[in-house]
Parts: sequence; structure tokens; C-alpha cells
Amino acid sequence: MASESELLQSVPTSLWIGGPVEATGGGTFPVHNPATGEVLTRVADATPEDAVRALDAAAAVQADWAATPSRERGEILRTVFDRITARAEEFALLMTLEMGKALPESRNEVRYGAEFFRWFAEEAVRVHGRYLHAPSGTGRIVVHKQPVGPCLAITPWNFPLAMGTRKIGPALAAGCTMIVKPASETPLTMLLLAQLCSEAGLPDGVLSVITTSRSGAVTGPLLTDPRLRKLTFTGSTEVGKKLIEASAHGLLRTSMELGGNAPFVVFDDADVDAAVQGAMLAKLRNGGEACTAANRFHVQNGVLEEFTTKFAEAMASSVSIGPGAEAGTTLGPLINEDQLNTVAELVDDAVAAGAQVRLGGKAPGGPGWFYPATILTDVPPHARILTEEVFGPVAPIVGFDTEEQGLAAANDTEYGLVSYVYTRDLDRALRIAEGLESGMVGVNRGVISDPAAPFGGVKASGFGREGGIEGIEEYLSTKYIALS
Ligand code: NAP
Repeated sequence: MASESELLQSVPTSLWIGGPVEATGGGTFPVHNPATGEVLTRVADATPEDAVRALDAAAAVQADWAATPSRERGEILRTVFDRITARAEEFALLMTLEMGKALPESRNEVRYGAEFFRWFAEEAVRVHGRYLHAPSGTGRIVVHKQPVGPCLAITPWNFPLAMGTRKIGPALAAGCTMIVKPASETPLTMLLLAQLCSEAGLPDGVLSVITTSRSGAVTGPLLTDPRLRKLTFTGSTEVGKKLIEASAHGLLRTSMELGGNAPFVVFDDADVDAAVQGAMLAKLRNGGEACTAANRFHVQNGVLEEFTTKFAEAMASSVSIGPGAEAGTTLGPLINEDQLNTVAELVDDAVAAGAQVRLGGKAPGGPGWFYPATILTDVPPHARILTEEVFGPVAPIVGFDTEEQGLAAANDTEYGLVSYVYTRDLDRALRIAEGLESGMVGVNRGVISDPAAPFGGVKASGFGREGGIEGIEEYLSTKYIALS
């Protein structure tokens, strides 16, 4: 296993357009280590012209890639899965360095992220159409699925590998080419992945990576270029809305995986110990910087104190905060100073409104952007932390009396990505799961992500699904051929 400095020296830092290429004008921007604030390295800073070069490359090979037998496409994807898995430690350390998360979290992400290549390697050969006789007897109907065409993927920093592979896997499996614009905070993982895809036999131009510090200016020309056919975005609701507007010009197909504000609902009849275990995962996975992170805990008053006490004990005894690459760390730093300030502000606002701090609640100070695991109780309904995405290791807990009140509180949000519910009553579990306004529900589970399941939201959490058999549909268009 390479040392940190050897690893950083081996990772590509140029753009990836049919191989490594410098940005026009030779500009670069820094990538920071959130555990220290220091510059890890610099990467190429793409210009709008570079983005168009990537689209030129994608458009040039689109027809050949679409015509490549699906078995062959699938086998390349499977080779990528094998190679990521073989180099899992490199990917994990790289993500920890640029994003901050603890190494065990990065290892989990490598397993999860790689799995999208294996899953879609298997789905590539299962794109089916239909053949039927028109009920009117007037002819035959053939339904044929074709790749949408060149796609642009814009991804966030919180899962530098998996947020890309969830898009690249199905796009390539469907026969689409793709340009990825990773978050400027975490460009290195995606550049390493592009190099590895090339080594695995992916033809030049099928996958390009453009890194930039000027996202809007660089991706803008692509969204209005008639050769681009799809935009797939994961990130904040605010940016997602802007991109939908920009995509209207070319009537692009769009998939939007946006922000979340997940409720975690615990009923009196729940197994409280299991709920605490689930809460630890739902809150602290990825240091709370996950769109699926439980943002607010609604606990029925009969078990409110027991749940709160056990949750605080579990956090106090098992969370070890520190640089993500250090042995024993379970909670790394937040991504940057802005994020640290946002989390601190939301906690301070809740406390000023009357919330009690049961655990944590104060940033330890630099270097690095650390915030401790925190539990707030007696959080008043108007506290911002109940309505805004906290994206940090902070758990606000509020009580409720009746099932109706619990469900209403859970649904009282503009978002609708995921919800969690803990109860031993199967009827209640199904009733609540059906009543929750979210694209996904975890019943007696604190982690729900699975490459074989359709991931996605409703309301302000967006539309489109990633993973499952639905994931590849996002990259296919349907053609109807009428026969006599
Ligand atoms: P963000 O600020 O929306 O950025 C996401 C991506 O969009 C980054 O690559 C960013 O580039 C780019 N971007 C920003 N402004 C742009 C513009 N005007 N035009 C084109 N691209 C632009 O979100 P984030 O802070 O990175 O990520 C956190 C958010 O992602 C949270 O809200 C979280 O819930 C959401 N998320 C959702 C899911 C899901 O599946 N639903 C999964 C993970 C995260 P720069 O880095 O250069 O700004």
C-alpha cells in the first residue's frame, strides 16, 4: 500500500478527455485536506472550451459505444468493479484525504460505489423491449429501448466515488457516453476512477472528467449544446432547480437527486436498543454528511427518555473524533469551514430557541473543520434545525403523543428523500411506510442504500431513480416501431 504522498503523486491531476490533458491556459485549483486545512495537491481548472472538448469526444464515440454489444459493455464494467475492489485501500485513503471521512467510512463507500459497476454489468444485458399485436388488429407494436445519448453528470463532495458510479454504471451499461463534473472539493477520486476505467478497456471518449472551480460557467455551454441529451445531478435542491431551468433550453432528460431532511420516527412499541443502533447509523454514517442522514428524531413520549439516554450513551462511548486517516477515528472533520459554520449556527439557533444540549454542541477549534457528535433535546418546532438540512453529526430529538402526530411531524418538510420508522407492529409499520411522503422508507433499519434498490426522492428531494432495475431506465429512451 502506497504512503499518502506516493498515492497523491500517482493520482491524475489533469482533466481526463480520452486520457490526461491539461486545461486550456494551464490553470489549476487547490484540493484541501479537511482534517488540516492544508493543500493536498492542485488539479486542472477546466474552461468552458475544455467542457466542449469533452462533449466533442463523447459525441464522436457515442454511436460506436451504443453499437458495442451489451455483453462487451457489461464485461468492461465488471472489470472496473474488479479493479476498484483490488485497489480499494487506495480509493479509501484518497477519499479520506480529500473529503475527511474516517477510513472505515471510506472503505464502506468503496464497496458500495464499486457495486454499481457489478450491478449494472449484470443489467447491461437485460434491457428488454416488447412485441405485441395491436388489440385493434391493425398491426404489430415493437417497443425498442435505445441509449439516450451523451450525458453530463454533476456530483457532490460527500460521496466522491459512489455519487459518480451510481450514474456512470447505468449510463455506460445503457450505451451512453458520459462527462462527469465532480465537486471541486473532491475531484481526485473521480480522476483516479477515469484512469482505472481506461485501464479496464473503456474506449477513449466514453467517459470524461472535467474538474473546475467555475462549475456554472463551465457546464453552462454543455447544457445548451444540442449534442448533450441528458443531465444527471446530485447535490443541493437550490442548485438542482437552477440546473433544471438551464436544461429547459435543450429539453434535456434530467435526473435530480437533491437534498433531504429525513425523519427518524420511534414508536412506544419499538425495540429501543435496535432503534438506538439504527439511529447511530442513520445519524453518523458519513459523519452525518449524507442526504440520507436522519435530520430529526421524532420519538413517542413513552420511550422518549429511554431512547435519548441510550442514544447519548452510545454516542459518548463509541464516537472517536479525529483525522479520518488516523487509526481508531470513527468521526472525521466536516468538509470545510462553511459547513462547520452552518452546523454550529443551526445548533446555536436551536439552543437560543430553548433546546437543551445533551451531548457535544461545541466545536473543538482548529486545525481542521471538526464538530462533535451532538444531541439536542426539547427542540422547539420553530428551530431551524428541524426544517433545514444539517449535514453534520447533530441529532435534534422531539417527542410526540399519537401515531397521527408522529406521522404529521415526520411529513412536515418540503423534502422527501428517505424516512426511518421503528416499531414492532407490522400493521403500523406498513401504515406509516405508506403514509410517509418520501421516496424511500427504512423500517427498523438505519441504513437503506443498496445498489439493487431504486434510490431517489419526491418533493424537493428531486426525481429519477439510481440503482435497481429502474436505474438504467434513466439512460434509455423508448422507441415505438409500428409494423403491419
Ligand atoms: P451543491 O452545492 O449543490 O454542489 C453539487 C455539485 O454541483 C458540485 O459538483 C458543484 O460544483 C456543482 N454546482 C454548484 N453550482 C453549480 C452551477 N451553478 N452549475 C453547475 N454545477 C454547479 O451540493 P453539495 O454541497 O456539493 O452537496 C450537498 C448536497 O447534496 C446536499 O443537499 C445533499 O443532500 C445533496 N445530496 C443528495 C443526494 C441524493 O441522492 N439525493 C446524495 C448526496 C448528496 P462545485 O463543487 O464546484 O461547487
